[in-house]
Amino acid sequence: MITAPQVDSLNLVLPSEPLLMMGAGPVPIPHSVAQANSIVINHLGDTMAKVIHQMKEMARYVFQTESRWILGVAGPGSAAMEMSVANLVYPGTRVLCVCNGYFGKRFADMSTRLGGVVETLNVPDGEAAQVAAVREHLERFKPEVLTIAQGETSSTVFNRHLPQITRMAAEYGCYVIVDAVCTLSTMPLEMDNWKIDAVVSGGQKGLSSIPGVSLIAFSERAWDRINSRPAAPPHWCLDAKLAENFWHNASYHYTAPVSGILALHEALHLVCKETLEARFERHLRCSLGLQRGIEAMGLSLFAPAESRLNSVVGINVPDGIKGADICKQISLKYRVEIAGSFGLNIVRIGQMGEQCREHNLFRTLHALGSTMKDLGADVDVASGVAELERGLQHSISA
Ligand SMILES: *Cc1c(COP(=O)(O)O)cnc(C)c1O
Repeated sequence: MITAPQVDSLNLVLPSEPLLMMGAGPVPIPHSVAQANSIVINHLGDTMAKVIHQMKEMARYVFQTESRWILGVAGPGSAAMEMSVANLVYPGTRVLCVCNGYFGKRFADMSTRLGGVVETLNVPDGEAAQVAAVREHLERFKPEVLTIAQGETSSTVFNRHLPQITRMAAEYGCYVIVDAVCTLSTMPLEMDNWKIDAVVSGGQKGLSSIPGVSLIAFSERAWDRINSRPAAPPHWCLDAKLAENFWHNASYHYTAPVSGILALHEALHLVCKETLEARFERHLRCSLGLQRGIEAMGLSLFAPAESRLNSVVGINVPDGIKGADICKQISLKYRVEIAGSFGLNIVRIGQMGEQCREHNLFRTLHALGSTMKDLGADVDVASGVAELERGLQHSISA
């Protein structure tokens, strides 16, 4: 018989004081979301049916859609991404994947595995996708499905022209899938007005819930395509028609992640109470204040202002310092977690959900500046913190 291993208990593994999660996700969760996440209820029955009914109602508000076809998935944002393509793409489907970085490429990889005929539109580093470039691909390649991220977390790029691109693609009869994992509820997204056929999100970013339960919305038009597929999708767990059993017919698909669903219900409830308008304003004010503070310290931002994502801020790593050392030091000494990156020489600070609170901004900016100084960079921490304060005050009075 194999004997039981001797391992440390969790309280010895976890840091003695929780770290402030200011990276590219997961983000801090409100206390009421954590409480909801500690509850287990029956995955079927009247209580769950009511929870799901309310979640769909709240999700329609957050996605700005009147479509009935809101579904959840037990899985990360990537599972929602995969659910969107697994149901809309089948062997031979032409898919255009707009790539501003890592997550754009992930859609291309997923679509290829599904037998799609995939073309990628690789946007140069740091730039937003241009309408004319997308139009050229629509004309020539005639994709049936287009994928694009509203905010590309990996390169901290914002696809500013998203509404023009999605509406144009719709005119070409193309089904448009938008990855809003990091942007949902942090900045405007109007699924119906912008003619989007599928929006995917994750729990642990803009919505400030836990990782592992994600939401997806399909348009009526997308749902018709799903109903007329030549064959069922290859992934049983991600089959939208089977997910309909749980999300629309109060019956069984797989055992739903009940605690995570309750957490997400609470997170959506907080968004509805705050209202999208107030939430967008809070995110903008905090992120712009943080950006001003970072620059006033003497550091530079990666993405130019016109394509800069406010939900995740990318900071160029100063010469002579390693990004990994910054992340390690700021965590050890200041108990703040920020993110490195995949390939680019930047570190990233998230501005999603609970990360956009003034007390978190001051602590993070101070920690970032002090860490850079500890590592030998020439930064002026006090000027940065003062500029953050001015930035926050300025936009309150503006
Ligand atoms: C984080 C992220 C994903 C993937 O989400 P996971 O929960 O890590 O699978 C996809 N797209 C974007 C834009 C993201 O920020």
